[in-house]
Amino acid sequence: MPVIQILDPHVADLIAAGEVVERPASVVKELMENSFDAGARNLTVEIRGGGVPYIRVTDDGCGMAPEDAGVAFLRHATSKLRDERGLEAIGTMGFRGEALAAISAVSHIELTTRRRGDREGTLVTLTAGDIQEMGPAGCPEGTTLVVRDLFYNTPARLKFLKSDRSEASACVQAALRCALGRPEVSVRMIRDGSEEFFSPGDGRQDSCVYSLLGRELASTLLPCRGEDEGMTVSGFVSSPSAGRGNRAAQFFYCNGRFIKSQLLQAALEQAYKNTLLTGRYPACALYLDLSLGSVDVNVHPAKTEVKFSYEKRVFDLVYHTVLAALQGEDRSGREAAPVRRTEAPRQDFFRSMSAEQYRAAQAAPASPRPAPRPEPPFGGGMTLRAPEMPIQTRLDLYADAKPTGPVEKPPVPTGFEPPAPTPSVEKSVQNVESPRIPDHKILGEAMKTYILVEVGDQLLLIDKHAAHERMNFDRLKAQDRTIMSQTLLAPVTLRPDPGDGELLEQYDSLLRELGFEIEPFGQREYILRAVPADMLPSDGVPAVEEILEKLRRGKAPDPQSARDEILHTVACKAAIKAGWDTGRAELERIVEEVLSGRVKYCPHGRPVSAVLTRKDLDKMFKRIV
Ligand code: ADP
Ligand code: MG
Repeated sequence: MPVIQILDPHVADLIAAGEVVERPASVVKELMENSFDAGARNLTVEIRGGGVPYIRVTDDGCGMAPEDAGVAFLRHATSKLRDERGLEAIGTMGFRGEALAAISAVSHIELTTRRRGDREGTLVTLTAGDIQEMGPAGCPEGTTLVVRDLFYNTPARLKFLKSDRSEASACVQAALRCALGRPEVSVRMIRDGSEEFFSPGDGRQDSCVYSLLGRELASTLLPCRGEDEGMTVSGFVSSPSAGRGNRAAQFFYCNGRFIKSQLLQAALEQAYKNTLLTGRYPACALYLDLSLGSVDVNVHPAKTEVKFSYEKRVFDLVYHTVLAALQGEDRSGREAAPVRRTEAPRQDFFRSMSAEQYRAAQAAPASPRPAPRPEPPFGGGMTLRAPEMPIQTRLDLYADAKPTGPVEKPPVPTGFEPPAPTPSVEKSVQNVESPRIPDHKILGEAMKTYILVEVGDQLLLIDKHAAHERMNFDRLKAQDRTIMSQTLLAPVTLRPDPGDGELLEQYDSLLRELGFEIEPFGQREYILRAVPADMLPSDGVPAVEEILEKLRRGKAPDPQSARDEILHTVACKAAIKAGWDTGRAELERIVEEVLSGRVKYCPHGRPVSAVLTRKDLDKMFKRIV
């Protein structure tokens, strides 16, 4: 008897359904994408009870003709792709003609749809993919699709679903991802009768981000934009002081489609190197627009993975754009053809407006770009301006990203100016025009920890240790490979934990380059003979212990990060500490570095300064309300 059988079409449909429809959230995503493809400007998504009993998506898109309404549920039925030549240039979200077939195979469906301009619409109901009824119906222009009892005929799949609560939040998350990718479409999400979110659909990234991600997250975001020969990236990234515990707030879009991309994630995070606390992640909403031929979406049925044809160019563009945003946003003077630059929100845009003010500002006609005025020393909130930050470039930067495809030779980016290589911070500070330092008065020091400085109408508080640590770090990092070392008068014996001895030997040459001299001594002991010149000899052993701890915990996957981690420790140990008496000249030096904008975050990403404005103080004392 033959063992190979052709599957019953019904069984084949169920298997295919499993690939596209994993859980209620996948239905939400597929239906929303269909609405986007139909040119809808307004969408309502409603779910009940986690999505299994009820999902509805209503749109005001093009609608379907009566003869198309039933056909839409057949497998490989699509209006978006005629032959394989079209595959290259797909601009729509769907194209496989699988979603409706897959969803209808595992649910009860009710579709009402009416084409724009048609006198009446069509109603179709289906159960397990079979049409139950079909006929004319009165309904508004556009399409409404209701999916009931998802997976009712595939109990195995139902069993794998999580609680209603988590399925519901997965649906909301999926809808949010879709909505965030389409600032020009207004999306309302309703869960069990109450509104979860609403995006205005006015075509602006800033209002879309603000309404979907919320005021709190939006207030930490900096706008960015860059372009390079037909590719643009724009959107928002979080300031380094607002690192998050995970990557859930990283949203990447490619041509309007939400994507997951290790390449983009690596480019983003690389830009935060040495400004973000380890274990903290940046947030972003970044929109990448590429020509349709240079990206392949046809990789996975759920289509969240894409393949870029020019990975290195994409990486570089994102990295440099994010870096420029972090270095102080106003590089517009040097940007080539900034598109709609005047519409980009200011750095403190979100922070400085209430929701009402924001809506009012939106209603008002766009004002022309104001003439440049002298910069106040501080922007909104705690971030200081960086007029000309010397920037460290990493030539081996792409090495960490591990490209998977063929890597193109890096082109010369045209859309922005890449950071100039700056071999030495000290030197560059002397060479370039020194940054403007605003008039200020050092009022003193509080708790031997915070320097108080009056600058115009603002009171600046500086964490002297954090600021000094950053200054040390930049200086050490800019030094040529080897760092000055001091030989200890009395060498110290080290007894590292088992296993750490190997680390000491493995990193021996790097440690020597950075000023540590450690020699094996007997079976399990080592002798510390020299430490970096900046450090107190008594800090030698704690520093080595801290470095070993970091290396042991795998914080240094590559030589460059090992070097950075060791320099962090040296910079920290060499910095003046909270609680120490610090001379006036030293305080002055720190204040000037901070006011120049060169020092913003400590190497771990903590802010080095905070600002209290006159308004803050007046409010505190209830002079104003
Ligand atoms: P795909 O989106 O890959 O083409 P689907 O199964 O998701 O496949 O949809 C099949 C077809 O049904 C689409 O190509 C489109 O013509 C039509 N369709 C689906 N949803 C809508 C909608 N909301 N408005 C108008 N037409 C729709
Ligand atoms: Mg589709």
